[in-house]
Amino acid sequence: MEAPTPRSEVRRLPELAVYDWEVVKAIIDEALFCHVGFIDDGSPVVIPTIHARIGTTLYFHGSPGSRMLRSMKAGVEVSVAVTILDGLVVARTPFEQTLNYRSVIAFGEARLVDDPDEKMAALRAVTDHVTPGRWDDSRPSTEKEVTATVVLALPLTEVSAKVRTGPPADDEADLELGFWAGVVPLSTAYGEPIPDQGVNWPAPGYLRDYSRPGRSPA
Ligand SMILES: Cc1cc2nc3c(=O)[nH]c(=O)nc-3n(C[C@H](O)[C@H](O)[C@H](O)COP(=O)(O)OP(=O)(O)OC[C@H]3O[C@@H](n4cnc5c(N)ncnc54)[C@H](O)[C@@H]3O)c2cc1C
Repeated sequence: MEAPTPRSEVRRLPELAVYDWEVVKAIIDEALFCHVGFIDDGSPVVIPTIHARIGTTLYFHGSPGSRMLRSMKAGVEVSVAVTILDGLVVARTPFEQTLNYRSVIAFGEARLVDDPDEKMAALRAVTDHVTPGRWDDSRPSTEKEVTATVVLALPLTEVSAKVRTGPPADDEADLELGFWAGVVPLSTAYGEPIPDQGVNWPAPGYLRDYSRPGRSPA
């Protein structure tokens, strides 16, 4: 991760900026998916997609027909946003209403992964990113399935994080107005696994006790 560049330097509320790789990594690993923005045929497009990180590289996978993967394969610049919501920040005035969040924005040019070992490692990482342990607990992918999947890699060099925590930032003069203010904590809940037809045994432990890596909302 490089020092902030002109486009990755947080200017708006710079006190919320974090350029610490450990923080960036934790946000990326905890978020289930991200949004990838790019220009396709002259128009801006933003696509939600699953990601996975290996070291300082972010991987994406999908069908060779997907617009995102087709465009990225051609070497376009992309911007990736990873977002985790931690709370509704209810202020005394709509002006100060906001959210508590941890987010990462990365910029760069994605490359097509054609090395077979790197591709398999990325596919494993994407699977295990969603359900850790699942790659080894499922039928191995066939060559045809692997060929039918495009994998792209984005180096995590031009990256920033922005983290908001804590109560609303109301003006001193508004504190005694009598309106309720505070934070409604927000987190993603994972329910009890629902077996598919023909499955009459309990779900594996990694699904029964599902949790994402990372810290609890602050
Ligand atoms: C869930 C959520 C909701 C938000 N809601 C609002 C809203 O309603 N209104 C609003 O104005 N802003 C909101 N923000 C903040 C928003 O993401 C931007 O930070 C803000 O709008 C300023 O954008 P900018 O491009 O002008 O900032 P600048 O500071 O000029 O951005 C410069 C660079 O800083 C980095 N950066 C900026 N924002 C982020 C970020 N969120 N995470 C990581 N790096 C970042 C990027 O590299 C960017 O290119 C929200 C953020 C999150 C995560």
